[in-house]
Amino acid sequence: RIVYLNGEWLAESEAKVSIFDRGFLFADAIYEVTAVIGGKLIDYPGHAARLKRSLAELRMTCPLDADSLLDVHRQIVARNNLDEGLIYMQISRGPADRDFAFPANPTPTITLFTQEKGILSSPKLETGISVITMPDLRWVRRDIKTVQLLYPSIAKTEAMHRNADDAWLVEDGFVTEASSANAHIVTTEGKLVTRSLSTAILHGITRASILDLARGAGVPAEERAFTPQEAKNAAEAFITSATSFVMPVTRIDGEPIGAGIPGPITQRLRAAYVEDRRSNAI
Ligand code: PLP
Repeated sequence: RIVYLNGEWLAESEAKVSIFDRGFLFADAIYEVTAVIGGKLIDYPGHAARLKRSLAELRMTCPLDADSLLDVHRQIVARNNLDEGLIYMQISRGPADRDFAFPANPTPTITLFTQEKGILSSPKLETGISVITMPDLRWVRRDIKTVQLLYPSIAKTEAMHRNADDAWLVEDGFVTEASSANAHIVTTEGKLVTRSLSTAILHGITRASILDLARGAGVPAEERAFTPQEAKNAAEAFITSATSFVMPVTRIDGEPIGAGIPGPITQRLRAAYVEDRRSNAI
């Protein structure tokens, strides 16, 4: 693969970052993941806007202006002949002598790489995924997309040890989100329910798109928290993320949701997302 590092295009084995980089020492870095379908970027404006917000929250600066950032996204797709998959972009505060306080004039480290991934078709779309519930033990600024991902990694690994695909995290009795996706249910009355925006969850770009598309598809939506029990009693459940779009959830803690197969509203919303976002890809 050809990767991008601080203005240079390099073979992946040639790309090196300092051991003093604050991304490495303090997880002092933010990231974005953008899906690529047919060589085009999906929902890019949303990802670019969230990047800006994450940077501002951490008083970090972007080494590239908006046009250059879009240009490197397009170039990395072209240089790797990427048809379907994802672009990972990370900006860290950069290298500095180890000290908890932010350095005064850091030089950020920016890196991008691609991964091939089947997004449009996946065997899990047929069956849906199973999730387990786990306490949400992450820090409380989940609205900032930092690389501080140890707890989500623990949760996902635990889910796999327990023969499930992912974890839904629970705080004060309510589901926050999945390890790396937003969580949604469809009630038996056919209403989409998803947690409202706050510092408790990442403000998912796919989540926002699905809420928009639900209105157009005649699916009423309610933004509020729900409990694991309400999810278990729901007609349908699904997760959203840039790399899975809309993925049905058919079991929670071993209990089937509804008929235990991907639900019709979930499938309708996925189809609407794929169609709309592909036609608006850039
Ligand atoms: N929530 C968390 C914790 C995530 O890590 C992600 C994506 O990585 C999402 C939600 C989904 O966000 P998006 O739809 O912008 O990919």
